Amino acid sequence: MTSPSKRLLLFTAKLGYQTRSFEEAAGNLGAQLVYVTDRCHQLEDPWGDQAIPVHFETPEVAAYTVMEALRGQDVSGILALGDRPAVAAAYAARGLGVRYNHPAAVEACRSKLRMKEIFRDAGLCVPWFRDLPIDPAPEPALLGISYPSVLKPLSLSASQGVVRANNREEFLAAAGRVRRLLKSPEILATREPNLDQMLVEGYIPGREVAVEGLLIDGALRVLAIFDKPDPLEGPYFEETIYVTPSRLPESTQRAIEKCARDAVRALGLWHGPIHAEFRVNDDGLWPIEVTPRPIGGLCARALRFSLDAASGPIGLEELLVRHALELPGWNSPRESAASGVMMIPVPKSGILESVAGEEAARSVPGITELNITARLHDGIAAWPEGSSYLGFLFARGSTPEKVERSLREAHEKLSFTITPSLPVEHPATRRMTGHGI
Ligand code: ADP
Repeated sequence: MTSPSKRLLLFTAKLGYQTRSFEEAAGNLGAQLVYVTDRCHQLEDPWGDQAIPVHFETPEVAAYTVMEALRGQDVSGILALGDRPAVAAAYAARGLGVRYNHPAAVEACRSKLRMKEIFRDAGLCVPWFRDLPIDPAPEPALLGISYPSVLKPLSLSASQGVVRANNREEFLAAAGRVRRLLKSPEILATREPNLDQMLVEGYIPGREVAVEGLLIDGALRVLAIFDKPDPLEGPYFEETIYVTPSRLPESTQRAIEKCARDAVRALGLWHGPIHAEFRVNDDGLWPIEVTPRPIGGLCARALRFSLDAASGPIGLEELLVRHALELPGWNSPRESAASGVMMIPVPKSGILESVAGEEAARSVPGITELNITARLHDGIAAWPEGSSYLGFLFARGSTPEKVERSLREAHEKLSFTITPSLPVEHPATRRMTGHGI
């Protein structure tokens, strides 16, 4: 147990399962967790919880607010969930003298364009890329665009608005779709920077993996490499299955780890969790994205760590709390079982009327949890406009093959009734609560 004075700041734009897990972990370790959030109205008792209300779109002001609120009190560690809170967390960490990432490094991760430039300048594998204004409609022939290409917003997440184009017609249609998404009231309300631009880049063929890691004073410890066994070839790129340990050859896994280290170093990230995506093909390792935050929301439940022989496994949240507060156990290895999660895809946009087969899916051997997170009678948006999955399936097993099989079998048992929503309303404008993965 630690002294009760250890205080951990958790910067988050969402309150839910994952924040509760952090709260629990901090409580069990005798530490005090203080929320820094723009969702104070959603807390049970904001002042009892000592939450600090901020606006993440002005990160320096948010950091100042935090320092004012904590005047004279010690802060032992800082964690951030989600891309926007991480910037405010970085400014606050500097002001409070807490180990974390430099604001400039975190800011760089907020723009896919800036990140690509940094990777290119560091000599990492990057496809050709260029940014374009969303208005007026671009003429690809004049811009030297080649195909296949991928169009994407600069600062959204969860593959929202990411579209592959194989020819001029598809490019123009995709550009129109990204433009409409970026001009939708919900997206404009986020006040993200760069909503008037998009990025176009060469399509990278190959397998994709996700890496969960922890930085300790610039040194990267890879916690897990997740294979993504479904081909992610577009035209849209919602996630499905993640399984760890990876089945790629050892040499490829070492190359992925090296690429992750190089990418993190190029960005200047220094301390705390990272989540990253890479493509692997015969030409090498291609960093798609590195974010200074842990894997999003419920997916973290696919990771457990063996603290010691006497106690049961701990979750990613507890590992991160231990790391942030410099408590023993932060370097625990991942448990030996294979583990996986399926982010349940949204087959089409509309109103989710009913879900069937949940019990049958839960009873598939290897399935440890099914969580339908979409609300009945609510609008759901398929990708590329969407960014929220129908739910999450989790499995454990002795091998990654078995885990993948369990997830697929359980998914087949589920059926979702989705009726079309009124055509006057674009699905993207109904409900978009992003689950950044
Ligand atoms: P986000 O941050 O919204 O997830 P990404 O840039 O990471 O956006 O892209 C989301 C997904 O789209 C990636 O995980 C990958 O599957 C696919 N993707 C993005 N860019 C490319 C590319 N240049 N080539 C191939 N696939 C891509």
